[in-house]
Amino acid sequence: MTKGKLFVFSAPSGSGKTTIVRHLLEQPDLNLEFSISCATRDPRGEEVNGKDYYFISWEEFKQHIKNEDFIEWEEVYTNNFYGTLKKEVERIWALGKHVIFDIDVVGGLRIKHKFPEETLAVFVKPPSVDELKRRLKLRSTESEDKINMRVAKASVELATAPQFDKIIKNYDLDTAKEEAYQLVKEFIGK
Ligand code: 5GP
Repeated sequence: MTKGKLFVFSAPSGSGKTTIVRHLLEQPDLNLEFSISCATRDPRGEEVNGKDYYFISWEEFKQHIKNEDFIEWEEVYTNNFYGTLKKEVERIWALGKHVIFDIDVVGGLRIKHKFPEETLAVFVKPPSVDELKRRLKLRSTESEDKINMRVAKASVELATAPQFDKIIKNYDLDTAKEEAYQLVKEFIGK
């Protein structure tokens, strides 16, 4: 199987990385396909099983760990497990496409270490932790408790930014989207 490239986009929740990833997926010349992760949390809002995530039970998740089916997995938030299946990357490479991941910083860096040649790891930086909190509140898909949990984690995550290949500052969304496009395009050409 010919290997495509791997594009990791990691950032604290609310940084805008999902919007950037979606924008990149809409660019046909980039030939990207989204890596659908497994998650043990419940679907939010409009989320669809098999499109946004493979929503599975903790029992199923545990079985995947045991079978060594994951490239990486994390308990990203207490009792919320997320993981990338090896089969998912194989599925996308078999389509002749490049893989794009929207995953947490620990998982993102793990992929980078497992596939150093093929991976471009990008960190999306929010303007500030306060702005992050404001954006999460605006999204209003989660309780105050859950928002606070995500904000607390953000400070820890921000400290990992220097370990990434590239940092995009998401102060202005259009500029960030364009910067992300250029980075991906350049890495595909390598
Ligand atoms: P959310 O619950 O907001 O969809 O995602 C929570 C966090 O988990 C986000 O930072 C998201 O990028 C991350 N995430 C999603 N899928 C994976 C995965 O497969 N592995 C890891 N390590 N993190 C993931």
